[in-house]
This record gives sequence, structure tokens and C-alpha cells, in this order.
Amino acid sequence: MTAPARLAPDERVNWVTSIPFFLIHLLPFAAIWTGVSRGAVLLCAGLYFGRMFFITAGYHRYFAHRSYRMARVPQFLMALGGITAAQKGPLWWAAHHRDHHRYADTENDVHSPQRGFWWSHVGWILCDKFGGTKYENITDFARYPELRFLNKWNMLGPWALGIACYLLGGWQGLVVGFFWSTVLLWHGTFTVNSLAHVIGRRRYATNDTSRNSLAIALITGGEGWHNNHHYHPGSARQGFFWWEFDPTFYVLRGLSLVGVVHDLRTPPRTVRARHRLRDGHFDIGMFRAYTARARSVAAGAGDRIDATREAVGDRIDATREAVGAHLQAAVHTAEEVAKAARRQVRSQP
Ligand SMILES: [Zn+2]
Ligand SMILES: [Zn+2]
Repeated sequence: MTAPARLAPDERVNWVTSIPFFLIHLLPFAAIWTGVSRGAVLLCAGLYFGRMFFITAGYHRYFAHRSYRMARVPQFLMALGGITAAQKGPLWWAAHHRDHHRYADTENDVHSPQRGFWWSHVGWILCDKFGGTKYENITDFARYPELRFLNKWNMLGPWALGIACYLLGGWQGLVVGFFWSTVLLWHGTFTVNSLAHVIGRRRYATNDTSRNSLAIALITGGEGWHNNHHYHPGSARQGFFWWEFDPTFYVLRGLSLVGVVHDLRTPPRTVRARHRLRDGHFDIGMFRAYTARARSVAAGAGDRIDATREAVGDRIDATREAVGAHLQAAVHTAEEVAKAARRQVRSQP
């Protein structure tokens, strides 16, 4: 929150390693030549929502928050589905996300929205600072060699899916089906980091600025109920009430009925009823955000005052020196005049 105005060297975009990221944003325009068929658009939609599920249900609600349980094979398949989304490996993703909750909205938050839209949306991903996996944050899953393998070789996922799309739908399958959905999926997911602390309403008094937004829930399969989520991160369900659309949870519920997942954690009614802002609870999250902003403005003003004082101080010193030099010269001249006068007095008869 009291973020420095300038980015540290390892926080600046690494333009060389980011080339694939920018290039993939240009590839969707190849649809001008491949054309756009109904089948390719359906493939794009399927890959968007399908892979969004692996991110929300797998990377987020399972690997980062352990909000439900599953056996080792479905756990592996969830991670395998996740790596096709081109959002690095499950251990990398979940370990950084745990830090987001631990330090939300502070200077240690990996993608604090207090540092602006660009930083929280993509800046933190394109710099070198967060490139590695923080294994110390995810020792519970890092003990599985198959997950460490997928985490390390995560690029196999998008490559395999891209080739499959080409085999299935030719160039159209690759461009529209794969690249369109991959770019949309990136920005859909990144929106949770950049805007879910900015747009929407706050229901619970959390320590951060998280908000609930239907618009974000619609594009992310239910991850828009971000204030609910920060309030009770261990819940597999983020839409706490029936009217809060949360398709990720509906699918998880379905999977629990057939025994693929189990022990879905959901907040009891008493937890959902507590800490409601409408009941007059003090909004500590917004208070912290506003005071931090005020502190950083005051610090900026203080720096400017110091700089002014320094500049004025230099001028005063120079003037004092000049005045001193003039006085010395005047004294010297006076001494000369006095000497000359004495000589004149002595030479008179
Ligand atoms: Zn958040
Ligand atoms: Zn989370």
C-alpha cells in the first residue's frame, strides 16, 4: 500500500521472457485468414469455461485453499487440467495465492491492487520477482512427486492442448479454439486480481478491500464473490447465498455426489450472518486502505518539503558565503585605505 512510486529492477517487465505472452495476444488476429466457424467458437467457449473450472476449482479452491478433499488420481487430473490453462504450475500458482491472502493489500501482497491496475493484472506476472515457485508455502502438496513434475513441466499442458486443437479443427481449431480461449482465459482470471478489490460491494468487514461482483463471477465461474472469499477462504463455495451464481461450486457439488471429491467445506449460517457491514461493523479493510493511502501522500509531501528545504538551504549557504566574501573584500579594501591614509599622514611635514 505504501508502495514505492518506482518499481524495483526485478519488478519491471522482463521484455525478453515476456515475448511469448505478447505474441500470443497477436495470434488471435490470424482468424482473419483462417475464418471463424461455429464449431471453432464452440471449441473456444468449451475451452474457456472448461479450463476456468480447473483454475477455480483446482488451482484456487483446492491447491491454494484445501477447501475440499480428493484422492490422489483426481488430484493429479485436476492439476493436469490446470496446466493446460497456461498459467504456470499448480504449486507456483497456489503458493503465490496463499501470500495474497496472508498479506492482502499490503506491500507484501504479490498483486496488490493498491499498486494500480497494470501491476495487479499482469505486471507482477511479467517481471522476474515472482518467477519461481515458493515451495515453502506449499509443502503440503509439494511432497507429491507427480505434482512437482507437472509444476516443473507445466508448458507441456498448453502445447499438448494446442496440438490437439489443431488436429481436431485445423488452423481454425488452433487459432480460434485454442488461442482465443487462452487469451480470454488469462484476462478472465487476472480480473480477479486486478478488479475484485476495486469493483463491487463489500458485505463483510475483512482486513482487506475485497468486493463481491456479479460481473466478475459471470466471467470466472463464480470467483467474483471475492469479499465472501476473503472473509472465509476455506470455503469451497464462494457464492454464499442461492442468488450468488457460483457454477464452480455447482460442479464440485455434482462431483461430490458421484464420489470424485468429498468433504466440501461451506460456511455455516452463523458464520455467514456475522461481521456484516450493514449491521454497523467497522470497515477495517477500507480504513486500512485509506490510511495507508493518506500515509503515502503525506510521505510524498514530506519528501517534497525536504527537497525544497535542501534547495533553499543550498541557496542560503551560497548567499552567506558571497556576503562573507564581500565583507572580507570590504575589510581588506578598508585596511588598504587606512594604510594609505597613514602613509599620507606620515609623509606630511
Ligand atoms: Zn483478493
Ligand atoms: Zn483465494
